[in-house]
Amino acid sequence: FLALKTMIELQMIEENSRNQKIFSCIFCCEFKEFSKVSMDVDGNTQINEFYKMVAFKHKLENGTFQISYLTENIEKILIEDCTDTISYFLSDNNKTYEFFIKSKDGSYPLKTKKTTDAVEKNGKAKSDQFGSLYNSSNSLKSDTGFVGLINQAMTCYLNSLLQTLFMTPEFRNALYKCNYEGLIANSVANIPFQLQKLFLQLETSHKRAVETTELTKSFGWDSNEAWQQHDVQELCRVLFDALEESLKGTEQKDLIKELYQGELEDYVKCQKCDHKNLRKDFYLDISVDMKPFGSDKSYESLEEALKAFVKPEVLNGNNQYYCEHCKSKQDAHKGLKFVSFPYLLTIQLKRFTFNFKTLQRMKIHDRMTFPFQLDLSELLKSTEEDNFDLKKKEEINDLSMKSSLKENETLNGCQAKENEKVNGFQAEVNEKSFNHLNNEISDSQFLCEKERLNHIQIEDTCSKNELTYELFSVLIHSGSTLGGHYYAYIKSFKNKKWYCFNDQYVSEISESEIEKSYGGDNKHGGYYSSSSNAYMLMYRKIDKKNKTFMKKQDWPVYLRKLCSSLHSDINKVDAEKFFCKIKLYGFHPINGNKVEALLEVFKDETLKNVTEKAWKILNFHEYLPLCQCRLIKYDDNFNSIVMSFDEQETSMVKLLGGFSKIFSFDLLLEWRKESEQFQVYEPGGVTLKVYVDDKLGDFFEEPFLLYVSSNSTIGELKNIISLRRGCEFSKLVVYKEHRGFLLLDNPEKTLKMESFYKYDMIFVTDTFTEDYKTSSFYKKLEEFT
Ligand SMILES: [Zn+2]
Repeated sequence: FLALKTMIELQMIEENSRNQKIFSCIFCCEFKEFSKVSMDVDGNTQINEFYKMVAFKHKLENGTFQISYLTENIEKILIEDCTDTISYFLSDNNKTYEFFIKSKDGSYPLKTKKTTDAVEKNGKAKSDQFGSLYNSSNSLKSDTGFVGLINQAMTCYLNSLLQTLFMTPEFRNALYKCNYEGLIANSVANIPFQLQKLFLQLETSHKRAVETTELTKSFGWDSNEAWQQHDVQELCRVLFDALEESLKGTEQKDLIKELYQGELEDYVKCQKCDHKNLRKDFYLDISVDMKPFGSDKSYESLEEALKAFVKPEVLNGNNQYYCEHCKSKQDAHKGLKFVSFPYLLTIQLKRFTFNFKTLQRMKIHDRMTFPFQLDLSELLKSTEEDNFDLKKKEEINDLSMKSSLKENETLNGCQAKENEKVNGFQAEVNEKSFNHLNNEISDSQFLCEKERLNHIQIEDTCSKNELTYELFSVLIHSGSTLGGHYYAYIKSFKNKKWYCFNDQYVSEISESEIEKSYGGDNKHGGYYSSSSNAYMLMYRKIDKKNKTFMKKQDWPVYLRKLCSSLHSDINKVDAEKFFCKIKLYGFHPINGNKVEALLEVFKDETLKNVTEKAWKILNFHEYLPLCQCRLIKYDDNFNSIVMSFDEQETSMVKLLGGFSKIFSFDLLLEWRKESEQFQVYEPGGVTLKVYVDDKLGDFFEEPFLLYVSSNSTIGELKNIISLRRGCEFSKLVVYKEHRGFLLLDNPEKTLKMESFYKYDMIFVTDTFTEDYKTSSFYKKLEEFT
């Protein structure tokens, strides 16, 4: 099990000495029901690439949204076509950055078209706006009948593994047979029980996707680090260990071993005396290298990589091995040999490696094919070590066999002359065999070996068919190094169709889609195709004993009880989802102070109802009639107006874009004077806090809020402010962090051009004759802070 150990050690080195920066980012998308998504981003990623990654991850059409982030509590927008790298904008890779996905040019981001063949054929794929997405039953189950898993921040590979285990009949059935008898209080930390609950939800929920938080709580990986420092195999082991622990003393106690465990032999064999020093080891998965040590060229296929896995290393020259039997240093073979394969075979492709030259973690994107059906009989029987043993045995014991071998040797491209020598000199056989091992075995040679083996092992009980494996899960990573996105292609053993399990989305895919995950350059693909490739494969042995999923009518009583209790819990949660709480703000009609309250909103309430409710909660009804108040979308973090609503009769759930626990915006109860009109606030404008110069004193008048389009010019802004205050202003100054008070002296420029964004402070005065920087107004501004 050395290979695996080395891999884990390597990964630890990688973690410690990574000098490349990875930023953990959380994205809030105000248009989606499941609003928070996490992603790790390589610091070297350019902003324009970053946009593509975000578009891919959020299934948005690139170019229809904007990304902003917070720095020192100021929200800044990332420009779409910028070629600067992420590290240029972010500095600290120990903290998690929060990004916001926003509407662009006042319209909703477009959802990407589904690309799977099946969907396209049915003509169901439509470019969809989030506005209508809610109505098109975002919360309803996928057409495939499968339930997705909500992407928690940070849990990257969790969902792929969980869906794979769920789709494994033997695993799901066994888990369903676990009866948790402990205290309810202790069940929180009981992994098998939490996993059972989750599987029941996956099987019976009517929702599009369910949460995994209770399960992750049970094994306690609660930080970003915990997820980064482990890989999918370790997660698998945590789940398996916990299951084994709770199966102790039951008839299923050996379940994990029976399903997932295979046996390996780790050997060193002296070539002089044949003394074999070996250690047997069990494995739950195999990690194969993408390329030979020191080579630039990756193996073309999984079969080739597996062959290399069992190819012995030759210890000779300075590397000679001390043989206890010969009591001297001898040439030897060192290697791994499969003794048995498990029923469910997990193969990890080592795409994530560490480059010792550059001390950087890297991902190998090279192409490596893998078969839908994998025949392992050759691998178990024809390790070269065995060929050699067999060959020698035959030569010594059986003359007729000898002649047959001769033929085969010729087939193998060996000279007849040498074969004659072989008969006479045992040592020469060894010598030749080494040479043979040192060469790469071509496929045709391999075939010959196969034929020879069939010839020799006619009576062998292990027929080839008993070791044929069927691919059923492909875990895919898309992106570079540690960051990126994880999803899985899984075959249903029930209907033999393939599905893509991508967090909350499940869709049917064709087999050709799977071939795209081989890796390498894909001429037809877009940005992501070349970096989306398989890193883990699961095969199931084709066997008479293959199980199907336990039917609901066969469920044990406790499982049915658990299922119905889960559903009553889920209904409770749904009832909660029937209303939401959202922060409400307002500026007091008399003293102008900001007041706030928590507003309860029910699903079918109209904006009109809710406005009345807000009017009462904030006590505005004591000062103003209801018709002088309205609710608008507001963002208290930036004191900025987001947009106004125009449809008074529309339901709140539609206006808010769905109900969630956290909203990335708030509501503001705005009021107007009797003589004034409400303005329409288009999304994407700028909220201005306007300070008017108080000519009589050293201060400014009480500021007021103004919302203007970012396409307005400075000249237009002057007019708006003058109109509002009823007198003429000619000088405008904006305050910008790090840059101070800037005079806006070009009336033609738009606010956008002057880099106004979302919220800014404006200072106005009628006029001054002196130079701006020496004026008394400038002095006043400097004293302002
Ligand atoms: Zn020896």
